Amino acid sequence: MTERQPLRVVPLIDQRTAPLPTPGAAFLSGTRIAASGLLHDSLNRPLRDLRISVTDRCNFRCNYCMPKEIFGKDYPYLPHAALLSFEEITRVAKVFIAHGVQKIRLTGGEPLLRKNIERLIEQLSALRTLEGRPLDLTLTTNGSLLARKARDLKAAGLQRVTVSLDGLDDAVFRSMNDVDFPVADVLAGIDAAQDAGLGPIKINMVVKRGTNEHEILPMARRFKGSGMVLRFIEYMDVGATNGWRMNEVLPSSQVIQLIDAELPLLPLGASSPGETAARWGYANAAGQHDVAAGEIGVISSVTQAFCGSCNRARLSTEGQLYLCLFASRGYDLRSLIRGQASDTDLISAIGHIWQGRTDRYSELRRALPGDTATGAKRVEMSYIGG
Ligand code: SF4
Repeated sequence: MTERQPLRVVPLIDQRTAPLPTPGAAFLSGTRIAASGLLHDSLNRPLRDLRISVTDRCNFRCNYCMPKEIFGKDYPYLPHAALLSFEEITRVAKVFIAHGVQKIRLTGGEPLLRKNIERLIEQLSALRTLEGRPLDLTLTTNGSLLARKARDLKAAGLQRVTVSLDGLDDAVFRSMNDVDFPVADVLAGIDAAQDAGLGPIKINMVVKRGTNEHEILPMARRFKGSGMVLRFIEYMDVGATNGWRMNEVLPSSQVIQLIDAELPLLPLGASSPGETAARWGYANAAGQHDVAAGEIGVISSVTQAFCGSCNRARLSTEGQLYLCLFASRGYDLRSLIRGQASDTDLISAIGHIWQGRTDRYSELRRALPGDTATGAKRVEMSYIGG
């Protein structure tokens, strides 16, 4: 067992504007961590899933993620030179694969706003896992550009997409994206993705009590039997700008009850380790899973934390490594990438960081009183992706 070197945390003030600190010696000196493909953190969770944010910009202003009053036109978005290039992203991805990553999800902001993203997808889709298999390469989008881009994304090597859709009612949808974007265009994007073969498509609906819970049943009826998997996400205290309150959270248990009353459901097992959604299948008259009718999922970070199996790391668009969606600190990889660090150095640095990981925010949140979220200023979801 290699003796673990004390980690040096690089404090971040405002990573989008402050000049990045030079990388700490601790990442590069001391005991080297070689790639083994079996990297576990301090809670024995393997590193399997990497989420890469390719832009901090978005063309929507969903109030639970990027409220308009904060993310206005004068907001200091990152200059292009600050973003990792596609070649830098691919280099980092190779290092994570050496540590056992099998799935890469491209996120944002809105990833389809990143110019020529197909080029990045081509580079990533050429990579192979340690077992020699293609990566599970997927992307989360608000669907606004999907109708135009679906075929090119598929041709570039993207396998699947997850589309955020918070309702079918046009007025509700427009008010939640807060830029008056019509739901019909996103539905057309979903159809185009289906036609292009970017499936099985997942549909993510954030449920905010008092805003869109009346859309739950219409959404379930719409996607039942479509071959797509609809997931209901509990409204979360991500970042520090969405004004989160517990009384606006509709627990997933109530979502299941609501649907089950009309469309009977039964629990299904997890389909992969570390899966965030709890799966529920539509039942047939005999009470068995009606595979043709499909399934739904619930992602219950607030009421049923799943930190115990969390195998996800997140890379911000400018190369900051975050170990939790609710983290308030990142690790500066870009200075290593743009400095003298070799791939072996990068592998060792990331090894140290992951091995020292203790994050389990959602589990800890449960212990907190009332509806106020805790602590330090958390990183914005629009910056590291959901
Ligand atoms: S709260 Fe953090 S540690 Fe827990 S599941 Fe979410 S990302 Fe993972």
